[in-house]
Amino acid sequence: MESLTQATVQPPCTGFEIDPSIITKYSTQGPRYTSYPTALLFSEQFTSANYEQYLDIANTDPAPLSLYVHIPFCRWLCYYCGCNKVVTKKAGVVREYLDHLAIEIGLLSKRIGANRQVTQLHFGGGTPTYLDDAELTELIHLLASHFQLDDSQHREYSIEIDPRTVNPDRLALLRGLGFNRLSFGIQDTNPQVQKAINRVQRTEQVIELVGAARAYRFSSISFDLIYGLPLQNCETLNRTLDDVISLRPDRIALYHYAHMPARFPAQKAIERHSLPNSAEKLAMLSLATERLLAAGYTYIGMDHFVLPGDELARSQKEGHLQRNFQGYSTALAPDVLGIGVSAISAIGDCYAQNSKDLADYYWRLDAGQLPVDKGLIKSAEDQIRAYVIMELACNLGVCADVFATKFNALFWEKFAELRPKLEEMQGDGLLVIEPAGITVTEAGRMMLRNICMVFDQYLNSKMQSYSKTL
Ligand code: SF4
Repeated sequence: MESLTQATVQPPCTGFEIDPSIITKYSTQGPRYTSYPTALLFSEQFTSANYEQYLDIANTDPAPLSLYVHIPFCRWLCYYCGCNKVVTKKAGVVREYLDHLAIEIGLLSKRIGANRQVTQLHFGGGTPTYLDDAELTELIHLLASHFQLDDSQHREYSIEIDPRTVNPDRLALLRGLGFNRLSFGIQDTNPQVQKAINRVQRTEQVIELVGAARAYRFSSISFDLIYGLPLQNCETLNRTLDDVISLRPDRIALYHYAHMPARFPAQKAIERHSLPNSAEKLAMLSLATERLLAAGYTYIGMDHFVLPGDELARSQKEGHLQRNFQGYSTALAPDVLGIGVSAISAIGDCYAQNSKDLADYYWRLDAGQLPVDKGLIKSAEDQIRAYVIMELACNLGVCADVFATKFNALFWEKFAELRPKLEEMQGDGLLVIEPAGITVTEAGRMMLRNICMVFDQYLNSKMQSYSKTL
């Protein structure tokens, strides 16, 4: 077959023409597949002893390592928030947290890291820039004294930025500490929408920060945007897009706001009647997609737009894009070591999640244990399905030949029972089925979550817990 090669290679997405009835048909709840099986399947039967075994095995792997450090604190509560965070202005919270991170890093580095270069580092939260300059410096020194931090220009060291907590001088410090990528939480630039979500930040400040980031030669700038927020409509979103496009970030994540107040209590502060309805959200999604594509961005899938020269676009074109708990990633480091409360690690065939409760996280570390609360060891079947789902989500297709070599099984025999559902999707223009595999179409990029869901064998039991796909 011509369209699928050993590594599935895709042309960039250049247009957006999709029948609204198809979008409505596929608007359902489903995972974002930052892992498979998803975190909802993690079990408390997985213990720190299980995790230690995987760390010891991974320690002998010469491949690079990725570190994720979770900083849970925020100064203010954003009403749309669904993250694991602690909203506080109490003095001393960071000191206690840094002291416990030091214990965790000490325990982890005894088992893994001595021989593995850290090519990827991500600080997420919460608000990583809740830490002041001295605290951020201390944390980087702590990591550098226990792991092999990469100082080459190929490293990908990123940090999430709440624009309300930084100024150009702080960005200069972050650059000096080795970060070369910034991810700004923008959400929406309209003052009324910002007020309704309790996240008021001036666009002039964002403009100043982006200018400073470019002057300090950060190699990548990302923006997070959300559609479906209270008081948002096509007109307000259009203005936000004007602001965003004029700043030309390298990457834009455009997330759908999932109103789930029973699961995320902060969202109870949002008036239900101020939320746009499904038709308005669909119009906003179409508007944003059309405008970003017209502005030269490529839609790589799962809410992410990137400039054509960005590494993620290049990785997808070459067929080796990956996905992990931080979203899309290049294939630099296969294992992710999560550090901090609620952080998730992906080491070998296991996932391990630290306790989400700060007191419990501290208690376990004070007892000298790794603070793992739950996790999962992927079965052989999980590994097969994880491969297919990640290929679809990242590289927009599955090659039956590569599948056969990897798993010693025939792709279409293995998934014969899924064929009717896939054929229905083919009829709706989302994908192309051929003997040599599956290719996702341009329209199908908008429905990647739905296409991946066909291969998810756990979906039915967890459906209600996921956000809507569109
Ligand atoms: S959205 Fe981010 S900054 Fe806002 S409360 Fe949640 S974690 Fe904190």
